[in-house]
Amino acid sequence: MSATKARLFDAHAHLDFPQFDGDRSLILSAMRDQGVYALNVGVDLPSSRASLALAAAHPHILAACGVHPHEAKTVSEATLAELEGLLRQGAVALGECGLDFYRDLSPREKQIQVFRAQLRLAKKLDLPVILHERAAWPEFLGILREEGPVRGVLHAFSGDLVRAQEALALGLYLGIGGPVTYPKNEALREALRKVPPQRVLLETDCPYLPPQPFRGQRNDPLKVRHVAEALARIWARPWEEVAELTCANAQRFLGVKL
Ligand SMILES: [Zn+2]
Repeated sequence: MSATKARLFDAHAHLDFPQFDGDRSLILSAMRDQGVYALNVGVDLPSSRASLALAAAHPHILAACGVHPHEAKTVSEATLAELEGLLRQGAVALGECGLDFYRDLSPREKQIQVFRAQLRLAKKLDLPVILHERAAWPEFLGILREEGPVRGVLHAFSGDLVRAQEALALGLYLGIGGPVTYPKNEALREALRKVPPQRVLLETDCPYLPPQPFRGQRNDPLKVRHVAEALARIWARPWEEVAELTCANAQRFLGVKL
């Protein structure tokens, strides 16, 4: 890693996804050259295993293991036992987990049960949690209050100031990605002016949610620089400062030293 440039930390990447099969190693080496770190996040057991393998092979990649609410319907006691085993193999966070009542790809009751089970597992293993929420805000907050305190990041946050404050009051970090660059998201940018920068993590959610100049294309962790630049405009400070600050936030959140 070059010590002369600002480091960037992408707190939510899916580099194991098949969209990267053609050029994964090129992206990984460009990241290393440019000082870009990433947390690779699992969505089910196979992708959680893949996250651990990427982290074991690349010092600039860290692993999270978990089951996405879309996959909740596939989860049994045995799945959770296996997830615990994976988390004990060097994962720095549990996730992603949560509720998605927008696409409803698993029954809501099952999503809730699997979400609660993963929050308890994270507490047992003393790991931070990568949280996914869509169209389920009241239920999501209620569960966090009951199961908490939760050391978590609200991934792909794109709400307004009221939601930001509710999340911050629970002690959560806000994961900010490509949507902060979209013209329509003025309420999000307005909220971020009033959010403590110490509670913000940069992310891509790659291959999804590319920043504005790349919409319609595959996203990747190198593009997290555009998120840092958008926050730099919002906070009126140099992007390098935003990069270092959010990299420090990610290390504090994950309990790692890079
Ligand atoms: Zn994700």
